[in-house]
Amino acid sequence: MSSAGPAARPIERPIEPLLKAQAFGLGFDLVGLTALGPADTYKHFSDWLVAGHAGEMQYLERGAELRADSRHPVPGMQSAVVVALNYDGTQPDGTIARYARGDDYHRVMWDKLDELGAWLTAHTGATTRAFVDTGPVLERDLARRAGLGWFGKNTLLIHPQLGSFFFIGALFCDLELTPDAPFTADHCGTCTRCLDHCPTQAFTAPHVLDATRCISYLTIELKGAIPEPLRPALDDHLYGCDICQEVCPWNHKFSRPLTDMALRPADDRVRPDPAELLALDAPAWRARFGKSAITRTKRRGLARNAAVVLGNRGDPSALGVLEQAAAHDPEPLVREHAAWAVEQIRTRHRPT
Ligand code: SF4
Ligand code: SF4
Repeated sequence: MSSAGPAARPIERPIEPLLKAQAFGLGFDLVGLTALGPADTYKHFSDWLVAGHAGEMQYLERGAELRADSRHPVPGMQSAVVVALNYDGTQPDGTIARYARGDDYHRVMWDKLDELGAWLTAHTGATTRAFVDTGPVLERDLARRAGLGWFGKNTLLIHPQLGSFFFIGALFCDLELTPDAPFTADHCGTCTRCLDHCPTQAFTAPHVLDATRCISYLTIELKGAIPEPLRPALDDHLYGCDICQEVCPWNHKFSRPLTDMALRPADDRVRPDPAELLALDAPAWRARFGKSAITRTKRRGLARNAAVVLGNRGDPSALGVLEQAAAHDPEPLVREHAAWAVEQIRTRHRPT
């Protein structure tokens, strides 16, 4: 996503307050500016990769060197407008993580950043490039540099008036913008709630997440079989996990209701029936989830997760749909997890 304008229209300087006003006007909840340069947290990131904590997320390894310095991904870029968009931590608890219940946030963020880029180009002639999770950029690192918050012990960025239930995006540009002060405080203090409540003990230390144990990774990023010892810990989670955000006092105090209605949770994406999900064929699955970020797992991934949830619930009324999937699902991955779930339920209800 990039824009470059043919004719610069002069604008009264300084541009920074106008640019921020434009970003807030587009609906972003936080806006900060930073100069591009070496990433403060690159060493932490590369140590994390070397430790194997990224699991199958090889795309992180492929672009690792580019992430070392935010000037590398797009030559000529000098500054970033870093933005955050609230996705509402006040939503009720559910089996799908809050961020994934509305329309795909990438599209929502890109549309806004493209509009911001077009505005900047029209008024200054700048070339811009938008990033939302997809490029070789440590966006959280940039966000802290731009003053948007500190890294919680749960590894997420926390803002003192918004908590952590927000998306981060960045608009790179080839202008030398006056940067905001980086966020240097750490307001976690002695709190360890996120570490203590993680159901899979995925934190090896404060600020260090072993993604291979994290429910978000296991239900979304992992393409193959979920390791059997970890399946019970998934409990009722069909897609992602919000626990280490839900328990954070900064979210209790500062989560805000949605302002962007494109992110409004669809009724059938809060606590869907796993038996129904397991039985969906590919066209029905696309019709139901095609506009959401849930497409990341494809049908097979969500059906795999649904089978595990049914096995964890242990309700014999699910045996019919599970046995059908174990015998006839087109995906071997789903057949194996359905067979596992059948065994869980049978074992639980076997007469002693
Ligand atoms: S998302 Fe869930 S499983 Fe992952 S670290 Fe947080 S609490 Fe643990
Ligand atoms: S739960 Fe506590 S330790 Fe964890 S991120 Fe929030 S404030 Fe920090």
